[in-house]
Amino acid sequence: MADNKKNKRNGRNNGDNDYNPRYRKMRKKVCPLCADKNLVLDYKNADQIRKFVNDKGKILPRRATGACAKHQRDITLAVKRARQIAVLPYTAE
Ligand SMILES: [Zn+2]
Repeated sequence: MADNKKNKRNGRNNGDNDYNPRYRKMRKKVCPLCADKNLVLDYKNADQIRKFVNDKGKILPRRATGACAKHQRDITLAVKRARQIAVLPYTAE
C-alpha cells in the first residue's frame, strides 16, 4: 500500500504493476512497401489496392496500413487513381 502510493507520486512505473489498455504496447508495424522492395503499387491491380481501403471504400490511415509517410502517399495516390478508372468504388452502400 505504502509502496503503491510512492509509485504514483513518482510518476513513473516499471510497466508491470498497472495495465492500461489505452497505452498498451503495440508491436511496431513495418511498412509493407519498404519490407518488400519488389512490391510495386499498381493502381490497376484491384486486389492489391483493396488491402488499403476499408469495406466502405475509405483509405485506411497509416496506423492501420503500417505504411511509412512516403508509401502512404503512394497508397493514397494509387487508391484515388483506381477510383477514377472505376477499379475501386468511391463509396460502398
Ligand atoms: Zn515505406
